[in-house]
Amino acid sequence: MNLIVRNATLPDGRSGIDVLAQAGRIAAVGPAQTAPEGWPVLDAQGQLLSPPFVDPHFHMDATLSHGLPRVNKSGTLLEGIALWGELKPLLTQEAVVERALQYCDWAVAKGLLAIRSHVDVCDHRLLAVEALLQVKARVKPYLDLQLVAFPQDGVMRSPGALANLTRALDLGVDVVGGIPHFERTMADGAESVRLLCEVAAERGLRVDMHCDETDDPMSRHIETLAFHTQRLGLHGRVAGSHLTSMHSMDNYYVSKLIPLIAEAQVHAIPNPLANIVLQGRHDTYPKRRGMTRVPELMAAGVTVAFGHDSVMDPWYSLGSGDMLEVAHMGLHVAQMTSQAQMRACFDAVTVNGAKILGIEGYGLEVGCNADFVLLQASSPVEAIRLRAVRLAVVRRGEVISRMPAATATLSLPGRPDRVDWTIRR
Ligand SMILES: [Zn+2]
Repeated sequence: MNLIVRNATLPDGRSGIDVLAQAGRIAAVGPAQTAPEGWPVLDAQGQLLSPPFVDPHFHMDATLSHGLPRVNKSGTLLEGIALWGELKPLLTQEAVVERALQYCDWAVAKGLLAIRSHVDVCDHRLLAVEALLQVKARVKPYLDLQLVAFPQDGVMRSPGALANLTRALDLGVDVVGGIPHFERTMADGAESVRLLCEVAAERGLRVDMHCDETDDPMSRHIETLAFHTQRLGLHGRVAGSHLTSMHSMDNYYVSKLIPLIAEAQVHAIPNPLANIVLQGRHDTYPKRRGMTRVPELMAAGVTVAFGHDSVMDPWYSLGSGDMLEVAHMGLHVAQMTSQAQMRACFDAVTVNGAKILGIEGYGLEVGCNADFVLLQASSPVEAIRLRAVRLAVVRRGEVISRMPAATATLSLPGRPDRVDWTIRR
């Protein structure tokens, strides 16, 4: 589709910019562009035009299942896993597809056009795998859905899990997953990392493991993951999700670990909303925050992208597909409140995730896909502060979602003048 976006502010601070989209790709970016007569116009009115949000860590097979078959009373990760185990045999393909499609609608409205979702393969029927492959095909025109074969119950400890994972990859699942800290022993965890990295290397696939999602400072599977990444030459194609044990690790050990992660080009995917509610559950006071060491990883040159992880499922009963809410929580938990750090948190829900997923044509340069979100904000930091309204969402040059601007008209006692108030001011 063709489109001209007029008078946008870009995340790098340039303002008064027009973006010309021709046949679904960006043809020009700059002030005062001319477009052929009759082309559709999107007037940005000086608001922030960003490439779309990217969620690098989600569980779409479980989303919107909150309360099925019961709620998580303790709120812990382990009760969540047990609850998911109760729900799994009750799932139908139709229900999983329906919930996933509904979530994708929410995502599009929030300007979230690329999602990496883990899909549980510890079910011999592979029902969720087939359901999400179907969803992936259906949403393809408007949303990039990348799937990770995720052995939720442990590839070593769950009988048949490796065979199921291999079948899922044969069916078209994109990425190899794992959960080493959930295996029975540290040795089994390390063995699972070796095994799964070798599967990925043989098939030329990416790796994304739930890694060390625990408060145990001795949970060091990330070290093993970085080691096998180097050994197998998987540089740049491996991500460690969560990495929460790093929060509690000995500082000297971390001073060796982070350079190893950087050298192996292993990416980090913290999930601030989930981590701040799930970690520290065995603590009294003081209670650990449990999120991994985001500023330190970023300073070492590691690509860090924030994930949403869960929306209304056995692990998290809130959420709405809003990656600005994720960035907002991430910067609070990591105390990343300088202007540069807040700006880095915006990258953590946009460009960094795109890099980890390997999305081609992502960005605002000429030749990139004409995919944008227009935000009711003047800058990335303001967008995070306000969890800004998504005024328009564009996919391949076509406006696929619109939302009215947030404004309020106040009538205040003792104030005769009517006050029109726009939320961003
Ligand atoms: Zn997860």
